[in-house]
Amino acid sequence: MKMTTNVALLAALLALVCVCEGLKFGQLCQGNPANNQRISDTWGQGHYKAPRGTRTHDGLDIACNDDSEVYAPFDVTLKRGVIVYTDPSKAAINNGIQMEGQGLCFKLFYVNPDKTSGFVSQGQRIGVMLPMQSVYPGITSHVHVQMCDKSDPSGYF
Ligand code: ZN
Repeated sequence: MKMTTNVALLAALLALVCVCEGLKFGQLCQGNPANNQRISDTWGQGHYKAPRGTRTHDGLDIACNDDSEVYAPFDVTLKRGVIVYTDPSKAAINNGIQMEGQGLCFKLFYVNPDKTSGFVSQGQRIGVMLPMQSVYPGITSHVHVQMCDKSDPSGYF
């Protein structure tokens, strides 16, 4: 009996994994239809696990000009707002949103969300890119994409 339950659970988990197979994020930011990534600038690099002083970068940066509209990359359910920093000098960009869709849970940083709950269809606006240049002058302004489990999102781009 227990064995049967475990097999059913495993099958359900595998089905969930298969949803993500080959999945790619749709356009995240207005003006960047290819989801071009932040490569390198005077503030650092945008790839997953890029060095950040004594820490490493837990997400992937997708280029997005300040004040651009940010879109749902696929059909998503908005879960909650995200606080990025405790440093008050970064208040201008201290916002984001957590969402789920296609079997993935992930967060977008530096976005002022229109709302923090409910369903949004792929390509629909979810918010606006915050004024990153005011905090990091000269940086490649970007949305930071971070999986809830901090795994590598690169394969989805
Ligand atoms: Zn980042």
